[in-house]
Amino acid sequence: MIHSSALHVSEVILHESRHLYQYECVYSNISHCHSENTITKWNFEFENYVLYSLESLPRHLIQAIEKDAYKFAATTLSRFTFTGKQKKKNKPEAYSSNSF
Ligand SMILES: [Zn+2]
Repeated sequence: MIHSSALHVSEVILHESRHLYQYECVYSNISHCHSENTITKWNFEFENYVLYSLESLPRHLIQAIEKDAYKFAATTLSRFTFTGKQKKKNKPEAYSSNSF
């Protein structure tokens, strides 16, 4: 069993890593598998980023880049924490999936 603090640290690392990935998709010339609409939205949000604070929390969390990063972290972590039947049924996919 994975300790909860280790899970939290892993989730934070995955979340922030996803932001780096989003940043690369927006600002580099690498090819990516996201729609132009998604890249345009991520670009707008990087340029108009709403920081995390108690006052701005709802506006922070509703940003597409945040929702994508939270979903990526949760989905990736769940792939490593499945047990028994779930593990067989939901085999980890290659990291090429862009369904986040
Ligand atoms: Zn974030």
